[in-house]
Amino acid sequence: MSRSVYIETYGCQMNESDTELMYGLLRHEGYRVAERDEDADVILLNTCTVRERAEERIFGRLGWLKSLKAQRPHVILGVTGCMAERMKEGLHQRAPYVDLIVGPDAYRRLPEMIQASIEVDPRDPQIDVRLDRRERYQGLTVDRVPRTSGWLTIQRGCDKFCAYCIVPFVRGRERSLPPTEVVAQAEAMVAQGFKEITLLGQTVSSYYEQGCDFAELLQRVAAVDGLARLRFMSPYPNDFSDRLIDTLASLPQLGAHLHLPMQSGSTAILKDMRRGYSAESFKEKILKIKERLPLWSLTTDVIVGYPGESDADFEATLEMMRELEFDSAFMFQYSEREGTPAARNRPDDVPPEVKGARLQALIALQEEISKARFAAQVGRTLEVLMTGPSRRDPARWIGRSSCFRTVILDGVGLSEGDMVKVKIEGATSHTLFGARG
Ligand code: SF4
Repeated sequence: MSRSVYIETYGCQMNESDTELMYGLLRHEGYRVAERDEDADVILLNTCTVRERAEERIFGRLGWLKSLKAQRPHVILGVTGCMAERMKEGLHQRAPYVDLIVGPDAYRRLPEMIQASIEVDPRDPQIDVRLDRRERYQGLTVDRVPRTSGWLTIQRGCDKFCAYCIVPFVRGRERSLPPTEVVAQAEAMVAQGFKEITLLGQTVSSYYEQGCDFAELLQRVAAVDGLARLRFMSPYPNDFSDRLIDTLASLPQLGAHLHLPMQSGSTAILKDMRRGYSAESFKEKILKIKERLPLWSLTTDVIVGYPGESDADFEATLEMMRELEFDSAFMFQYSEREGTPAARNRPDDVPPEVKGARLQALIALQEEISKARFAAQVGRTLEVLMTGPSRRDPARWIGRSSCFRTVILDGVGLSEGDMVKVKIEGATSHTLFGARG
């Protein structure tokens, strides 16, 4: 009887994609996929370490799984991904019942490590957290559950080293899949029934492999027969060239949504963050994109309360948000991550109550902007890709417009993967409501 594996994913889309990679790898070795943790012989938590709170949540979950393991001692419990990489042996000290600690570049060794864990003294965890700048996971079968939309990781790691970010230390240096492999995986996904593919990487716009840059890669993937929509996440502002903007304007298969992280509207703070661009050049870029792609929706990320952020710096961020009018934004309070240059060099000196107040002010502003931008869609007819029934009301169905806005409509006669025209009749600051037009 073959062993079964259950993988629980935390954090970003890259981790979701890595979970599919691990399932593919283990299935190839004869493992079955378990639907629930209590049915599995191997339980893996594929983890995130971007914030301390994410790690505490994972420790809470590990505590629960420890009691499950007490009832079923043969179960192998593993921690994979970014938290495994950051904590290394320290994770075993805090959770000695964990059998496997596997960093993001060691997934190929999972079958061998599980086997070793079964055969050796259980007090001896299997640990592999070596970062390998050549590992692209080329040539592996990724086990994607057929759905309407899927992820395709084209790039791993990051070379930008923004001062506050742990990613380059836990995911290693940037490397990319060759274009032929990206296209082959996209073709396989379409043959599996995927309608929409999102190309993933920490800084996808810096993709360059075998003479092919990101603009050319988009052209090659968009040409895959049967692909309805192509998206990508996340580009980096500095690599976002005019050539890339022209390419976006020329490809009808592209979803009309761009997520370009700003982080701050103050040049002084951006410099401290080592983002490599000024507030002015970021603004110039966004205005250029808006001019060339007027129907696209733009979203961003912002951090408030970065070390040294003054009232004037924060006001500059608010001003930039007012001017650039993003559709929505991921907004965070700065939280220090041990091991980053910011944590080493800059005291976390903005008081928590100031950070909290700034975040609230920013959220309130963005809510107003989002409300107005979504309301402006009322009366338009949008092409919507249906993803499934609403959890709250299964008679209503949810889909995504090309601009990545959530659209809800009556579900009669709809199937997952349908592309339908929807006349927008109402809006909140995050959702559009409509009827088939
Ligand atoms: S670009 Fe900066 S913020 Fe993004 S993953 Fe790389 S280092 Fe982190």
